[in-house]
Amino acid sequence: MRVKLWGVRGSVPVPGPHTVRYGGNTTSMQLIGDDQIPIGGEIFIIDAGTGIRECGLSLLGLPKPLKIHLLITHTHMDHINGFPFFVPAFIPGTSIDIYGPVHYEKKLEEVFAGQMDYSYFPISTAQLAANITFHDLKECEFDIGSLHVQSQYMNHPVLTLGYRISDGDKAFIYTGDHEPYHDFINVDDEDDEDEEDAFDDIPDIVEQQNQRLLRFFKNADILVCDAAYTPEEYLTHKGWGHSSTDDAIDWSIEAGVKKLVLHHHEPTHTDEKMDEMEAYAKQRVKEKEAAFLEVFNGREQLIID
Ligand SMILES: [Zn+2]
Ligand SMILES: [Zn+2]
Repeated sequence: MRVKLWGVRGSVPVPGPHTVRYGGNTTSMQLIGDDQIPIGGEIFIIDAGTGIRECGLSLLGLPKPLKIHLLITHTHMDHINGFPFFVPAFIPGTSIDIYGPVHYEKKLEEVFAGQMDYSYFPISTAQLAANITFHDLKECEFDIGSLHVQSQYMNHPVLTLGYRISDGDKAFIYTGDHEPYHDFINVDDEDDEDEEDAFDDIPDIVEQQNQRLLRFFKNADILVCDAAYTPEEYLTHKGWGHSSTDDAIDWSIEAGVKKLVLHHHEPTHTDEKMDEMEAYAKQRVKEKEAAFLEVFNGREQLIID
């Protein structure tokens, strides 16, 4: 099992001369077998940002009918709005199973149909030629073909599932969008002591959640992790649902991850800025004497073994 990155950007596509090397498409990646093609004849894609458009075109030469599994981490726009341009969905006979977190207000199917409502797009999901089946997930474990999938909630302003996918003894993890657990409730200014008592358990809960995250990451071969911000940028973006390079590196070292792929790049980060961030990340790993960890920036079309 290897992973091919089709979109590595967060929030909004940013094509142009300043993002040529790392790419401007929003997040989408594909799990591929050693021969570059599907695993066991089936196609596995995670997230449907604008990168999925190019991924879809790459599948057209494969024997039909296509059998596709699409896992969605969450339904923010940058993770689903490439789907209307995913050409295999327009081919009769294609089957697409779409998996994603249950929503407080809407089912996964309604969210996908909503973005293809006539106000936004000329073709509705009901008119797509492929047979599409939606699977609303919570935290769970299940098998798809030879792959074993474990989902776990991440810390983000909408329900978000990270996926740990195992093929034999090889484990791949993609966090989707995620931020470290913090005690976001500042009780220092509270006059009411009863109210302070109500928050006494929060540091323990935060610690439990961070430890749970490390167990999810434990000994992963490849971790594609939200690392949208520099440590300095993160200070002014707390609560926005994304992590910094330092967070991603420190988790990886603690959990014994072998390859860390920095992902969900901030749209304002140019190729030059990305180079700086990667050099900084490698230096931090060196300073922490964690030679077992390889760290690098995700970029479009990159295949990671
Ligand atoms: Zn995102
Ligand atoms: Zn998001």
